[in-house]
Amino acid sequence: MLKRTALVCGAGGFIGGHLVHRLKREGFWVRGVDLKRPEYGETSADEFVVGDLRRYDLCADVIDRPFDEVYQLAADMGGAGYIFTGQHDADIIHNSATINLNVADLCRRQGVGRLFFSSSACVYPAGNQADPDAPNCEEASAYPASPDSEYGWEKLISERLYQSYGRNYGMVCRIARYHNIFGPSGTWDGGKEKAPAAICRKVAQAVDGGEIEIWGDGRQTRSFLYIDECIEGTLRLMRSGFAGPVNIGSEEMVSINQLVDMVCAIAGKRLHKRHIAGPMGVRGRRSDNRLIAETLGWQPTQRLMDGLERTYAWIESQLLRSAA
Ligand code: NAD
Repeated sequence: MLKRTALVCGAGGFIGGHLVHRLKREGFWVRGVDLKRPEYGETSADEFVVGDLRRYDLCADVIDRPFDEVYQLAADMGGAGYIFTGQHDADIIHNSATINLNVADLCRRQGVGRLFFSSSACVYPAGNQADPDAPNCEEASAYPASPDSEYGWEKLISERLYQSYGRNYGMVCRIARYHNIFGPSGTWDGGKEKAPAAICRKVAQAVDGGEIEIWGDGRQTRSFLYIDECIEGTLRLMRSGFAGPVNIGSEEMVSINQLVDMVCAIAGKRLHKRHIAGPMGVRGRRSDNRLIAETLGWQPTQRLMDGLERTYAWIESQLLRSAA
């Protein structure tokens, strides 16, 4: 029997790297493509192309056959420190939109079996997320559109791009809106890291009884999804009869202050929180899992604390390694 084939765009990144491992475990022949190889550990892809997906010729080289599954995860992105300062807006829109235009078109030309696009919770209107205790992230609430960042706008237009290819060319496109994915092998320093990784790093570096800096008042709320559940949801959606867009996230909502307390408890440290000015994003955000439960008969269930324990241990090991 012929091996099933998959292409992972963004395979050098956090989610892409984990996805490649999972597809290999399932017996796929996998090609990965990214501007860079994975930073933490080796890829398990059969072929890994280091290249720029903004280049149409490079895209044509890597999308050279009717892959059974193509996962489009490549994007110019980062945490709040990257997305919300406004300094990277032009690059964020131009780079990610160009990648999506190229990938959609070449997947159509090659007649790929299924195409997955990773959208984001950042598509939801800022006005629906002003209340930290009751944010609205129901899928249908994305319109009328009013995302709080250019990153969110680009995701929204690319969702529409893939939906249009589905409608006009009969392509099988699947769209997920990820909500704050975290776990080992995620960026943990350098400015593009997200809140769970940044907090794990700061706590690991702090001395017991010392202090930790937090952007904003720490009362902004979020829900965080552990990487293994993100991959499980992605594959279930990809192989389902449901196109999305659908949330893939956790419903366990915590404030950033609570997140710090959880990480401190894992580390066994008592730290004073010092709140400083910094980019924060919306006041509240939580995945609404009604649609995914209804359409796929599945939703993530792992406790945040369990994922944080694994992530903290990994970041601590990275710090020890870089200090050695
Ligand atoms: P990541 O930054 O680790 O991975 C993205 C990868 O895309 C990077 O390795 C980067 O080098 C690559 N890339 C960027 N520009 C490229 C180009 N021109 N050519 C080739 N490769 C390029 O991010 P991630 O956390 O793994 O996220 C994967 C996808 O999921 C992204 O599309 C992101 O927007 C989306 N998403 C992630 C989260 C999250 O919490 N991690 C939340 C919502 C949506």
